[in-house]
Amino acid sequence: MEGLTNLMEETVMKKIAQIWPQTQYCQCEKCRLDVAAFALNRLPAKYVRSLEGALIHRFETETTQNDAEITSVVYNAIRRIGEDPHH
Ligand SMILES: [Zn+2]
Repeated sequence: MEGLTNLMEETVMKKIAQIWPQTQYCQCEKCRLDVAAFALNRLPAKYVRSLEGALIHRFETETTQNDAEITSVVYNAIRRIGEDPHH
């Protein structure tokens, strides 16, 4: 939606970029979107109005605690899609 940013989406995309290159799974655009959808469906959305730097900073601080959980959800998504790619 225009004017809204899902901070969880940005966090998940960052995690995928960190973890995925360390695996041997297919890393095409189709698989990337499948991995992102799989992970995002298992994590709460965090919408803020776009360009609210202060909120984004606070989110990043808050999610430090959830970092291990987000990493594990993203890792599971990469493994699940990687072992059974939809193409
Ligand atoms: Zn693929």
